Parts: sequence; structure tokens; C-alpha cells
Amino acid sequence: MTEQSLLLIKPDAVKKNHVGHIITITEQHGFTLKNIKVLQFDRKSAAEFYMMHEGKEFYEQLLDFMCSGTTVALHLERVDAVAKLLELVGDTDPEKRSPNTIRAMFADGVTKNAVHASDSPLSAKRELGLIFKGAF
Ligand code: ADP
Repeated sequence: MTEQSLLLIKPDAVKKNHVGHIITITEQHGFTLKNIKVLQFDRKSAAEFYMMHEGKEFYEQLLDFMCSGTTVALHLERVDAVAKLLELVGDTDPEKRSPNTIRAMFADGVTKNAVHASDSPLSAKRELGLIFKGAF
């Protein structure tokens, strides 16, 4: 089924000029770019986006990182978009990342991991709404 998902190109990857390369990789994997937005998270918008992680030990570090520079958000579409994008992004744990995933190619570590992808169709709906219809 054709689905929608969200890919965030995080501040580390934007700073290192990987935006074009990452978009090309998504296109090569059958994703259609439906919308794109260049944005700057502030504390409030980052906290709202990552509300499910509030209280975890990495939460403050994650918010600091997400507010540290420009983010590029991509609204992507394809058949099985959510699962296919998660596969293409690679694991949270650097040890478990397959070669040829975006994180294996561009991530610096656990927190500075180049990209975010929605983890379910429901998350995709929420996140696309926040980014493309919301206030930030
Ligand atoms: P993912 O982005 O792989 O779905 P999570 O949703 O669990 O991972 O976490 C959100 C983000 O928080 C991660 O992308 C990463 O930037 C950061 N993060 C997750 N786990 C850790 C950790 N153990 N230590 C530091 N940062 C983390």
C-alpha cells in the first residue's frame, strides 16, 4: 500500500552538506518527494516532536543536538514507505547498522545519527502534521 513517512535530515548531516546525497539515496530507493521544509527546532518544538522520550537519560542531549542547527524535513511517499525508510535509515545502535544504510554512511554516533524516520504509520501522521501543518 502506498504510504507516507517523514525523514528528518538532522543538524549534523546538514552541517556536513549531506542533504543532496541523502535525498538522492531516497529517490534511488523508490521514494517520491512530496514536500520539503528547512527548519530550525527550538526547545519547545523539539520537546513536542520527541515527547515520547521525555525523562530518558539521553533526552536533554537529544534536544540540545536537535536545536544545534538547521534540520531538513522530507515528506516521502512509496509502497510500504514506513518500513522501507526505517530499513534504509539503519539501526539506532551503531553496532547493528547494516552497511549501505544512511546512518552507516553518515552518522557520527548514537545521538548524532544524521537522520530520523517515523517508526509507524501513526507516528508518520503525527510527525508530518507537526512539521508541515504545525507551527514549526
Ligand atoms: P531512532 O531515531 O533510531 O528511532 P529513538 O526514537 O529511540 O531512535 O531515539 C531518538 C533519538 O535519540 C535517536 O535517533 C538518537 O539521536 C537519540 N538516542 C537514542 N538512544 C540514545 C542513547 N542511548 N544515547 C544517546 N542518544 C540516543
